[in-house]
Amino acid sequence: MYETTVEYFSNAKGGKWPKRLVAEFGEYLKSNGGFEFTKGSDEDSLFRSKLRNVGVTSGIDIRCAQESLEAFRYFYLFVETHDSLRPWDFMLAGSGCLTEESPLCWIGSVQEKRIHVDERALGGMDLVSPDFLTSPAIIVVSKRCKNLLQRLGVTGCRFEACDAKTNAPISIDASPNSPGSAINGEDAAFYQLNITEVVAKPPCFGKVLSLEFRCPKCGAAGGCRATNMVGEFDLADLSEADFQTYHGFCDDEGRLYHHKVERIIVSSRVLQALVHEGMKGLIEWGSDPMFYHAVSIRE
Ligand SMILES: [Zn+2]
Repeated sequence: MYETTVEYFSNAKGGKWPKRLVAEFGEYLKSNGGFEFTKGSDEDSLFRSKLRNVGVTSGIDIRCAQESLEAFRYFYLFVETHDSLRPWDFMLAGSGCLTEESPLCWIGSVQEKRIHVDERALGGMDLVSPDFLTSPAIIVVSKRCKNLLQRLGVTGCRFEACDAKTNAPISIDASPNSPGSAINGEDAAFYQLNITEVVAKPPCFGKVLSLEFRCPKCGAAGGCRATNMVGEFDLADLSEADFQTYHGFCDDEGRLYHHKVERIIVSSRVLQALVHEGMKGLIEWGSDPMFYHAVSIRE
């Protein structure tokens, strides 16, 4: 079971809607200030016909319940975060745009250390990210999850063993050759999932109206307002790899914009396996039914 919804946001200052629209479509107004409809429904068409000169941006969202995951090729991957994973502990200070004093943009940042994991803090988790989204995106997976992914023969990624962190301070030298670190990869409790496949072109957001929270160094945006707030990929720009990343969006004239953080998409077959095996840490939305966000693809 899946549903495609479209959410409209007002372009007016403060996101204000004309009173006549609120009066007529109030039941479709969400707490975030947007109107939401099932795409292509009569109400959606009626709402559009009544917009007249009201400027809107919109986002199309494909919500797919567990049992229908096979209906789509790719899904956005969102995993739970944990504050014991601090990017500053393993990213090279001052690399790229990033400094600890000014944690605004991760473009060009370099990982210099193996990730140290507090195994007690992450106990029971199978997929987890730092609570600060980065570029490159960082995901740590449990041994059980890594084994599953390897059995599936996943593509577009490689695994790097994490170091165990007890209560000892973080070791200064965590290079791959440092003695005592769990580097052979077989006996670690957690592994970093490094995604190596990058999409050829990021999703198209239609007409980009404004860029927000721009990095003073490289100009990458922290957000934007565009006519399609979720975006659509071209099929030709995606590969067959199970994991793929992108950190930007383009407009309908093909202009490319960089985004400060990297996002991940995962193949349907891998998401199905993760769900089926009850891997903990995958974020699902909604309540009845729970759903995942499918990637919108233009063929
Ligand atoms: Zn930057």
